[in-house]
Amino acid sequence: MPNRSTQPTVATVPLLLQEWSPLNDLRPDEVTLGSARRVMWVCSVCSRHWQAMVSNRHYRGSGCPSCAQAARRRPRSDLSALQVAPRLAAEWVPELNPGIDLTWYAPHSKTLVVWRCPDCGHQWTSRIATRVAKHTGCPRCTAAARRGRRRGRRR
Ligand SMILES: [Zn+2]
Ligand SMILES: [Zn+2]
Repeated sequence: MPNRSTQPTVATVPLLLQEWSPLNDLRPDEVTLGSARRVMWVCSVCSRHWQAMVSNRHYRGSGCPSCAQAARRRPRSDLSALQVAPRLAAEWVPELNPGIDLTWYAPHSKTLVVWRCPDCGHQWTSRIATRVAKHTGCPRCTAAARRGRRRGRRR
């Protein structure tokens, strides 16, 4: 093997190898995965070219910026989390989630956001998907309701 370095190269990672642009001067087996070199990539989904550091792609999982932007703009399913679970609107507080909007996210989104209970004012952090799929509510009110039920108290 003519490989001078013991470090794994781009050629050992199928996804990176597939997206390696022919415009690069170097071959994928000449660049290690930890390299800070900026090279050209071709998106396997939208075929656009972009430039990114090799180590960012491998260790940080960065991908095609065009596809990432498109995914941010529209949820993968047609319905947003808010359409599927309109009750979440009452617990959504824009000031607690600056720069984002609940209508941007799909019901299965793993984005962590802050919620506020309209009944007791408690704030908690939970993923959108968890709230939509598990019908979880305010943890404080849920715990209080559970305690009340156990003791059989009416009020
Ligand atoms: Zn793309
Ligand atoms: Zn509550």
